[in-house]
Amino acid sequence: MPETLSDTLKNILEIQTLDMQMIRLVRVRKDREKELEQIRLLRVELKNQLGEREKELDQLRSETAFVEKKIEEEKLKIKKLEAQQAVTKKLEEFNSLTKEITSSEREKAQLSQTLQQLEERRIQEEELFAKTKLSLEDSTNNSKELEQEIVKTIVEINQEGSQLKADRARLAAEADPHVLSVYERLLSNKKDEVVVALMNRVCSGCHISLTAQHENLVRRADKLIFCEHCSRIHYLPETEAEGEAATTKRRRRRALKT
Ligand SMILES: [Zn+2]
Repeated sequence: MPETLSDTLKNILEIQTLDMQMIRLVRVRKDREKELEQIRLLRVELKNQLGEREKELDQLRSETAFVEKKIEEEKLKIKKLEAQQAVTKKLEEFNSLTKEITSSEREKAQLSQTLQQLEERRIQEEELFAKTKLSLEDSTNNSKELEQEIVKTIVEINQEGSQLKADRARLAAEADPHVLSVYERLLSNKKDEVVVALMNRVCSGCHISLTAQHENLVRRADKLIFCEHCSRIHYLPETEAEGEAATTKRRRRRALKT
């Protein structure tokens, strides 16, 4: 375990560096996973569209077959009626058969019109189906490479993450458990750096100025000192601490000379 508070904080700062890397890494991985999800969703949507088109086509085909069957039935009926008409000797029957044939012909004509409309719709639907199929193939091909790249990145991120975890565990084992737990609690609140330098009496976390008294407490370094505005832990960067010490020494030397 580190002996002085400044060593303790040095150790925590190293841990913090790793934690910040980890936070960034997790963020990048989330973004990449979202991209992957979007690519896959798009493909599912196109597949669904293709399925819908196919259903529509099936429906049109079975309607067409039904109408074709009806037309054949009317044809047969007309043939039968005509055969009957050819052998009849009664005028009344002949006339009534003529009526029936005319009505059947009308029915057949109507069915043929319906059939033509169905054909036109079927051609349109087939074109749409082909288009949808093509864009699904395109998107599958185009996204495959991107998808592989993203998957590869995620694997790399996971490896980097494992390394970070291992490094952090090593540092944490050497850390002061109390300070580490305080640090971790702050970190889980802020998801940002929580051990920050006090620079020219300004907190590097919230950028608010603090008093000279506060700075002195930080310099004394005999207990954790928190920013009164953002609750971050303060430390004096070495240049500031040394600079101050050197000034004090110089002052002392000057005092001795005189
Ligand atoms: Zn602050």
